[in-house]
Amino acid sequence: METIYDIVRLIEPKEQGLYLTVGFEMPEDSESLTLRYSYLRHDSGDPMRLGEPFTPHEEVNIVDLGLIDPFGKQVGASGSDKEEVFVSEAQATPGYRRVPLVPGRWEVLLGAYKVQPEGVKVSIEVRIVAKSRRLLKGDLHAHTLASDGVHTVAELAVKAQRHGLDFLAITDHNQFSVLDALPQIPGLTLIPGVEWTHYRGHANFLGVDQSYDEPFAANTDEEIRTRFMSAHERGALISVNHPFEEGCGFQLDFTQLPFDCLEVWNGPMRESNLRAVGLWQSLLVQGHKIPVYGGSDYHRDTPFIFLGGPTTCVYADSAGPSDILAALRRGHAFITFNPSGPTLEMSAGEAIMGDSVSWEEQKWLWLKVDGLAKGDVVRLVTGSGAENLLEAPAPGKFETEYEMPGPGFARVEVLRAFLPGIPRLPALISNPIYFE
Ligand SMILES: [Zn+2]
Ligand SMILES: [Zn+2]
Repeated sequence: METIYDIVRLIEPKEQGLYLTVGFEMPEDSESLTLRYSYLRHDSGDPMRLGEPFTPHEEVNIVDLGLIDPFGKQVGASGSDKEEVFVSEAQATPGYRRVPLVPGRWEVLLGAYKVQPEGVKVSIEVRIVAKSRRLLKGDLHAHTLASDGVHTVAELAVKAQRHGLDFLAITDHNQFSVLDALPQIPGLTLIPGVEWTHYRGHANFLGVDQSYDEPFAANTDEEIRTRFMSAHERGALISVNHPFEEGCGFQLDFTQLPFDCLEVWNGPMRESNLRAVGLWQSLLVQGHKIPVYGGSDYHRDTPFIFLGGPTTCVYADSAGPSDILAALRRGHAFITFNPSGPTLEMSAGEAIMGDSVSWEEQKWLWLKVDGLAKGDVVRLVTGSGAENLLEAPAPGKFETEYEMPGPGFARVEVLRAFLPGIPRLPALISNPIYFE
């Protein structure tokens, strides 16, 4: 859905030298804005000189452009250089900041640098595209040269785009990445973050430029808690990373810390990840609602580590970091072994993965898995265990309905034999739907 405003502002000669504003209303749930303006910049030539071999086009008007948000903050300014600018939280024209399009009164800034004696008519077109839910694929854990990786952010971003990812979080050890300093790569959303890295555990703080003011270092539980609380209050998404990784497992009691997600799938699927899934399953059985995600923990290419291995697929309302993180917080996500792994749609009435429904009102779960390989096993995991729904006889897709026998949770796993003779391993893990 699009909202379009066509605005005309006549600038009078006496306004030359002033900065003027023209307001427009940003609707709720807006994703992107394209702003175009036009005016008579050069005259078409002095008629007195007709017949002469050369006619100059004189610059009769110069109007500068800028944009101000409802809080009165400058979103961008481009002088008279650009006739069109684009702003969203994921991408913006250079000179403009990537910001969420908060509802309210926005102002187009018009600088009347030069105005001809008869004044100048400025035509402004504002096109606003509304948010809509879509499936985005990304990697939530990657390191650059700023810690122990070998690539710059720009190199990582190009790699991510080549791998077919829509978003990438930059999570260097104890080094913040800052949104305004991250490069712009078309079609790729970069999410600022940090991997808080401590002898007693690692955690990603995503979506804010600076999650805490103190040094990362903390020697007591109380100091550690202060870092987490600060990140939480500033709106960072907090994930407890690779809880069973040898040498850097999570030794703190994370149930006593604010956190949003558990990273159950870190890099290639292996025993430490299977243990993390086991821990998550036991917490779900106890009645906790904990969203999960995955991250490659990419530092450099090795035979088993690549960007998007695993890929977290989110059903987000826009490509902006805040909507991607909001979707992760709500568990509207599943994890696949790579960007072209199987995909999953799952619902119970209006609820999708991560949501809760009343079992009294909605007992039926619908699911559709696409991108299955021959031999893939689709299984449903509930509080009472796992039930195989299908062993795929050939590559294809699978759709089914399942009646929940009682309240609880239901989530989907796809298991695949990646190598002959080796047991099947997860190729997909979804967040649950909770039946209350
Ligand atoms: Zn780590
Ligand atoms: Zn890491």
